Amino acid sequence: MRFSGIAASRGIAIGPAYRYSRTLLYAEDRDLLPADVPYETERFDGAILRARQEIEKVRRVAEQKVGASASSIFEAQMMMVSDDIILKRIRKRIKAELKPAAVIVDTEFSHHQRLLQASDNALMRERVDDIEDIKQRLLRYLLDRKKWLSKIEVPSILVADMLTPADAILFARSSVLAFSIDGGGVTSHVAILARSLGIPALVGLHDAAESVETGDMLILDGERGELIVNPDDETLKGYRQEQSFVIASGVGVGEKILEDDAPIVRTSDGQDLRILMNLEFGNEIAISEAERLSQTTVVSGGEKRLGLGLVRTEHFLLLHDEFPSEEEQNVLYKDLADRFYPATITLRTFDVGGDKVLSGSYREDNPNLGWRGLRISLDEPDLFLGQLRAALRASYRGNVKIMFPMVTTQDELQRALAFLEQARNDLRNKGENFDEEMPVGIMVEVPSAALMADTFIPMVDYFSIGSNDLTQYTLAVDRGNDLIAGLFQELHPAVLKLIQLTAQSARRNGKPVCICGELGGNPLATPVLIGLGIEEISVSPSSVRALAARTRLLNASDCKALVNQIFATATSGEDVKRMVLEFLNERNLVESFSDAKLRRGTGARMPKK
Ligand code: PEP
Ligand code: MG
Repeated sequence: MRFSGIAASRGIAIGPAYRYSRTLLYAEDRDLLPADVPYETERFDGAILRARQEIEKVRRVAEQKVGASASSIFEAQMMMVSDDIILKRIRKRIKAELKPAAVIVDTEFSHHQRLLQASDNALMRERVDDIEDIKQRLLRYLLDRKKWLSKIEVPSILVADMLTPADAILFARSSVLAFSIDGGGVTSHVAILARSLGIPALVGLHDAAESVETGDMLILDGERGELIVNPDDETLKGYRQEQSFVIASGVGVGEKILEDDAPIVRTSDGQDLRILMNLEFGNEIAISEAERLSQTTVVSGGEKRLGLGLVRTEHFLLLHDEFPSEEEQNVLYKDLADRFYPATITLRTFDVGGDKVLSGSYREDNPNLGWRGLRISLDEPDLFLGQLRAALRASYRGNVKIMFPMVTTQDELQRALAFLEQARNDLRNKGENFDEEMPVGIMVEVPSAALMADTFIPMVDYFSIGSNDLTQYTLAVDRGNDLIAGLFQELHPAVLKLIQLTAQSARRNGKPVCICGELGGNPLATPVLIGLGIEEISVSPSSVRALAARTRLLNASDCKALVNQIFATATSGEDVKRMVLEFLNERNLVESFSDAKLRRGTGARMPKK
């Protein structure tokens, strides 16, 4: 049986299921006598006290495991159980309505849940689970129920219809291999925690849990968003191979990642590829991992360290639900630039909207075609100027680049550059130090930008191709929609042609072009990108090593011939995949590219942000 869900945290897990189902508690309605009120109020106060103690305990565990930023989820829970207005209201209602504390707690918190559930904002809706966590905790004390069990004896994949952030943290202390959750979205706290913990997770599986029993054999594919229950031997074997490949290509602590001439790797016939890393900003664990990786590639001469080809600054919002202030950004960007110095960091200005989180409820029928990325920045000058000034101030040592997302028209770019000049002037007037030559680039991720690349390139220092959005907009396929995931073909010849146009235009003008979408980490794409003459690829830190290894196995002239053949005959993404597989097969490279072997026809499905 196969279930498809949303890949919330990457990786592949194979193991027995542990079916976790927490019976939801409900308070039974009955009447109190006025004389019972003091006792009932006292029980409520006792429950609040215990809740605070337990949440604090979980918060401390979370802090050790995932760092201060993600453990702030529990600080928010703590604030809710310490909210005087809510607590007073509950006490008042016990007295006025003569109902047990459990009943009032149940109705009061359920009321807040309904309000959030009705919100237009996905992030707010996902906070419903946090309130459920608090409500259930209080009901457990008030109804004298036992402690929840959050311990697994044998390493297992946890399957649940719903999981709270506290559950996730506590289960992570025992041998959980992965999380499979019917509810939730990628921005739910449990998904964020799973990513921070490095535990593969699927969410949004709808009704998978009821078809799974403890002990069932499971494959949880956090790469493609699939849960396979009791797989046949062949599937299991294929996944075992892939799993060892994924693990082998992962990043070990203090490991030497690249050869001596890193971060530039060379094909067998001497074409250079510079590897960079993508970083989701705001997650301390991810930053330190990337930093460690950068430091382990110290090399002789020239460029010394692995830099950051894409810093998704908007990810700060996922963890904090609000834009950082200019001052906060000053500190954060400077810290990042210092930590990676002398390598370069590429700060992309906030790319919110579309499928990404934006606080406040801006309801749009077509968010991916709506108020998104640079469009928002241009409409919010204070926000934009603040971010630009903060980035400029971090650039004083000369290792910061800036990049605009979702550029569609000339006019937008002109206006963005004018804001940048204004930000520079603000700093000049204050006598602040910054890099006057800070390179400025754009994401090429909308077909209009690729088609008009020649007119954009004189205005910028570099291009960075966002293959995720470029695929979405070229093929008119929502990158986060399950129903059409099979149509999301990032290797479609139409997408490749736009990449070629962009790369040619940059090359003619002697300017660099980088690929920073997920395509860069797709094993089947490596020969194609090398063949297209791409010289920079930015991938997630866990893909760095495998990308370097694959590049060394390839011959760039052969790859060029492959690209010519693709453009001459391929009419679909499937054609391209087949041709690349044949190419690898002829050269006995399929084993070394084993991730490629297992990438099936569903296309490289992009998880939503
Ligand atoms: C892209 O679109 O390929 C990209 C790198 O940007 P994001 O995935 O953040 O939209
Ligand atoms: Mg994009």
